[in-house]
Amino acid sequence: MGSSGGDGDCEYDVIVIGAGIMGSCAAYELSKLGQTTLLLEKFDFLHHVGSSHGGSRTIRVTYPELYYPPMVLESFKLWEQAQSEIGYNVYTKTPQLDIGPSDNKSFLALISSCQANSIPFQFLNQSDVTKLFSGTFDLPEGWTAVVTELGGVLKPTKAVAMFQSLAIRHGAVLRDRMEVLDIKKDHNCGVQVFTVSGQRFKGRKCVVTVGAWTRKLVNSVTGMNLPIQPLHTSVYYWKVKEGKEDLFSPESGFPTFASYGEPYIYGTPVIEFPGLVKIALHGGSFCDPDKREWGRNSVVDSVRSWIELVMPKFVEAGEPVISQDCMYSMTPDEDYVIDFLGGEFGEDVVVAGGFSGHGFKLAPVVGRVVAEMVVVDGEVKGVEMKHFRIGRFAEDPKGNAKEHGDNQVNSL
Ligand SMILES: Cc1cc2nc3c(=O)[nH]c(=O)nc-3n(C[C@H](O)[C@H](O)[C@H](O)COP(=O)(O)OP(=O)(O)OC[C@H]3O[C@@H](n4cnc5c(N)ncnc54)[C@H](O)[C@@H]3O)c2cc1C
Repeated sequence: MGSSGGDGDCEYDVIVIGAGIMGSCAAYELSKLGQTTLLLEKFDFLHHVGSSHGGSRTIRVTYPELYYPPMVLESFKLWEQAQSEIGYNVYTKTPQLDIGPSDNKSFLALISSCQANSIPFQFLNQSDVTKLFSGTFDLPEGWTAVVTELGGVLKPTKAVAMFQSLAIRHGAVLRDRMEVLDIKKDHNCGVQVFTVSGQRFKGRKCVVTVGAWTRKLVNSVTGMNLPIQPLHTSVYYWKVKEGKEDLFSPESGFPTFASYGEPYIYGTPVIEFPGLVKIALHGGSFCDPDKREWGRNSVVDSVRSWIELVMPKFVEAGEPVISQDCMYSMTPDEDYVIDFLGGEFGEDVVVAGGFSGHGFKLAPVVGRVVAEMVVVDGEVKGVEMKHFRIGRFAEDPKGNAKEHGDNQVNSL
């Protein structure tokens, strides 16, 4: 329904706040459903101070939790659809390799989750790993490996631009350098959104996708203290030894990978910078998103030690050649928050945040879900939304119970 459908002086059906990958996907899905949509962004579009910038994010179907793999399977299809609609690609197919100590609880849960979700995968021993990945990985004693075909690399900045372009094609209005200061209930329309520069917009509904700023904005609007903790992290690009660069390319079958245990490390093939492979730690230091310590390389030592242990042959483990800063928005259980804000806003405001360093791959599904919540008042198809409720933290401050134990992220 458009804003001309009897809602008084509503300018928009939906106002989306925050134009990272989540807000851009939400604006795309909403405008595709015929909703008049406004997307507001605090900084310049495609800026580098949030969570959705850079040259690579992994997409993998392997998860310790049972409920993410079905979402990833849907997401693969939605990424493909968006690529067909725009006419260029943001996804590069690779295998996904998961390795870890054979008694690591998260790694064992990942294997059970693949089995329960009928995800095809193969167990690998050291000699299989050597053969399949040309000697690039050495499994330490007591470690094991599984590989699936359902992995790959997404190009984040390019993907955000893709969803923003598609949203515009479907009629959405996009405005950057528009920092939202407040959201207020509007009894005729739904909500009023106020910006720092003094503008006011009225919408029937509002979607808050402000990443690491979620706790700050929600707190200033409602007084509610959502447990979404910003974390400053860095990704590192390491030099591949001369003559071995090709072994690390997607064309040679080099995988996206995750290494379970302490520390949790992940990486992607040589895809962004010729001759440099991305190897990073899933973790960082808690931060204020408005007062970051840029260039703080607090986790580089852990990554270097891991390279010396697991990829000693063909990667130069001295200093990373390039590092890039980024932010996670951590929840205590590392599950997302996708829910109505409630209180005086009832079902007029949806919050989607707390993506805990693993949201990018699922952004098209999050966009679809959020659009359904807004348009059909909470009736979401095909996703178990109970895992993403705000109310779970009132029942237990740690959030969802995880049989595989502690969180995987390393916080310093
Ligand atoms: C180093 C790193 C590696 C990662 N690797 C992976 C991976 O391999 N696979 C994966 O699936 N995920 C990965 N992630 C996680 C994924 O990138 C994030 O979950 C995702 O980008 C979060 O998107 P977002 O839209 O919620 O946040 P953001 O991208 O931060 O977007 C929020 C936007 O809201 C804007 N905003 C904030 N406040 C306001 C306001 N008041 N008014 C208007 N606008 C506002 C911000 O400027 C920002 O543009 C990684 C993250 C990082 C940092």
